[in-house]
Amino acid sequence: MDCGSGLLLAITAQMRGIAAGEVLLLHTREKSVLADLPAWARLAKHDLLEVADDGAGSGPWSLWIQRGAGARTTAPVAAYTEGEATPLGHRLWLYSNFHCNLACTYCCAGSSPKADPRLMSVDLADAATREFVAQGGRELLITGGEPFLHPELEELVAVTSAQVPVTLLTNAMLYEKGRRRATLESFDRGAVTLQVSLDSAGPGLHDRQRGAGSHAKALAGIRLGGELGFRMRVAATYLPEDVDNAAELHTTLDQLGIDRHDRLIRPVAHEGFADDGVHISLDTVEPEPTLTADGAWVASGGRHERPSQGRG
Ligand code: SF4
Repeated sequence: MDCGSGLLLAITAQMRGIAAGEVLLLHTREKSVLADLPAWARLAKHDLLEVADDGAGSGPWSLWIQRGAGARTTAPVAAYTEGEATPLGHRLWLYSNFHCNLACTYCCAGSSPKADPRLMSVDLADAATREFVAQGGRELLITGGEPFLHPELEELVAVTSAQVPVTLLTNAMLYEKGRRRATLESFDRGAVTLQVSLDSAGPGLHDRQRGAGSHAKALAGIRLGGELGFRMRVAATYLPEDVDNAAELHTTLDQLGIDRHDRLIRPVAHEGFADDGVHISLDTVEPEPTLTADGAWVASGGRHERPSQGRG
């Protein structure tokens, strides 16, 4: 294994079984481990004592990793719940459906008008929310696909938002009038927040990634949601070279009256190994269960909101 395919999980599990100051000996034939493991050891606050080549310059290698005194051992959830035990974390993600009126270039759900809808039933959403709240859950995020394409969205939001605050991720393009407008107006303003992705201040980048005309419709949808009394949250993810775009976006959001606390504008997360920051492991992240018509998953999130792209 290399560090990205499960080796770090295996090492982390082994490190839990030894005391600070004790040493884990690792043998590997994977050369990339020599570059990646030192960065991980720094982040995880362990000491890499020695690396030895057991072959003739091409491995295998032996690495001695000493468990650091500062390495985390506490249960992960406690750190995020200020003492309250919530084994499933605070937030449940619920995919109401997978089809969408858009087909964004970066959609992580593979949504499009042609995608199989895979609708979540109201009964399943109700039962899952009930169970989650009973376990200490405090927030439900409904996403897709585009939730406003779900034929029973009104009922689904009604039964869930009666139990816990709901954030509905939408591209804000479908509820201007008709039945979907009535669905929107039926939501409890005190319990439902709308979150909309806006990729850029002007139509350029947004329409390139999400489809011609989508920027204007998203702006109209954000305005309408605000006029109807909903708390509106706007999410955007930008590349480092688009930092000017992020500044312009703030100006647009000022004009739309979006509160600073309701702006999730962040740079794209990179893949790979960081040189500093927090070591991501079961000890440092909060579980975030995800329920779809296909089954349930447990993802892990940090203290911050998830990236917006690919989520409505
Ligand atoms: S990113 Fe959101 S709006 Fe775009 S296709 Fe995916 S679900 Fe639809």
